[in-house]
Amino acid sequence: MIDAGHGGNDPGAVYGSVYEKVIAFDIAARLASTLSNTYGYNARMTRSNDVYLSLAQRVELTKSYKGSAFVSIHNNSSTNTSYHGHEVLVPTGESYTTNPYISASRSLGAAINRELGVRIPTIRNRGVKYQNVYVVGKNSVPSTLVEYGFISNSNDRSHLTSTTYRQRMADATASGIHQFMSTYK
Ligand SMILES: [Zn+2]
Repeated sequence: MIDAGHGGNDPGAVYGSVYEKVIAFDIAARLASTLSNTYGYNARMTRSNDVYLSLAQRVELTKSYKGSAFVSIHNNSSTNTSYHGHEVLVPTGESYTTNPYISASRSLGAAINRELGVRIPTIRNRGVKYQNVYVVGKNSVPSTLVEYGFISNSNDRSHLTSTTYRQRMADATASGIHQFMSTYK
């Protein structure tokens, strides 16, 4: 289950004419396509166009589609334009987390983070972070959220606005998902 963050009247992070919801959708569509065409998975997207979905709807869709893993696609932003890098968010061990797949979610996130780090070394690797994130902590399958970079940072933004790099991000993510799916039973 591939989840393009934000959408519709929720643009996510905005920098000038650069919208997180647009970049996230493009990476998500490339990722779903690579998962289906290269690896043969039945990849589904929570949204297939520019519509608003609540966080609860994204989790509910994963359940109704009987997804086996969930990956949410986002970009970061900060008022401090020097902040940069990609990271993955995985469930904490706190009571917020009702997802029974804490350890598997961390494995999924780590596999994606490793592939992004190896394949796109020109974006700093901020690593794997334990955070209470609704679509990760409240989901019912192995789940992670990927922040591919800061649209507020010029180096990261130059990658995020490049279709070549968006494809590389999608390919790295697909490879990480495949590694996880191959070892996870
Ligand atoms: Zn976001």
